[in-house]
Amino acid sequence: MTATTPTNEKSRWRRVMVKLSGEALMGKQPFGIDSDVLIMLSEEIRSAVDQGFQICMVVGGGNIFRGMSSNKLGIDRTTGDYMGMLATVMNALALQNALEKIGIPTRVMSALPITAVAENYIRRRAIRHLEKGRVVIFAAGTGNPYFTTDTAAALRAAEMDCELLMKATKVDGVYSADPMKDKTATRYDALTFTSVIEKNYQVMDINAVVLCRDNHIPISVFSMFDRGQLLNILTGKNSNHTLIS
Ligand code: UDP
Repeated sequence: MTATTPTNEKSRWRRVMVKLSGEALMGKQPFGIDSDVLIMLSEEIRSAVDQGFQICMVVGGGNIFRGMSSNKLGIDRTTGDYMGMLATVMNALALQNALEKIGIPTRVMSALPITAVAENYIRRRAIRHLEKGRVVIFAAGTGNPYFTTDTAAALRAAEMDCELLMKATKVDGVYSADPMKDKTATRYDALTFTSVIEKNYQVMDINAVVLCRDNHIPISVFSMFDRGQLLNILTGKNSNHTLIS
């Protein structure tokens, strides 16, 4: 099986970006990385790689450090943002390790040069890795303060010509109200970019939504904790997600 040919011919997508928040890696812990979660997430990614999908990933850093909280520590916002970007590098390395343990070749490419631990981000090299069937984890966000890893995911998705951005959240899509608090909340199967922007649904950083809209990259909001869901969406088997297009 080649990395470029999904076995399921019905699939609309071949190369996709998966955005994980740093908090997703925490599991039930208050901070840091939960190894069981890492294994579970890696197995989900493997199921898609095994079917020939090309997987790009961006992971956040909120489980370790957020620039916004740096003020409380007397640290400038910009310095805090660089610390947040470094946190994403740690998560990317942990994810790479977990993926490689189950036999998935993975490269970490960092927007900030840290050549002892990760390759520098070079667009054409990243595309080559994908073509060879490697998972590419884009670390250090956009490399610029005042941005988020959601925006980094949208930016890299556009640069890599991804056909879909998959935003992993705790719930399986966008709801009319918070489903954790309101039992009557219903999930939207589909939304337009315009409605997400106008109604300000708290799905993703709005800059990321705009970037996806302008580059015609649909966004799937789904739960990575529902086993098999990532592959189900990619192969069009069910619609337990919200598709923003
Ligand atoms: N960050 C940044 N520029 C970027 C991406 C991230 O400055 O392009 C910093 C920012 O401080 C942010 C932190 O890295 O708070 C962690 O990223 P994010 O909050 O997006 O992580 P997530 O919420 O997905 O865990």
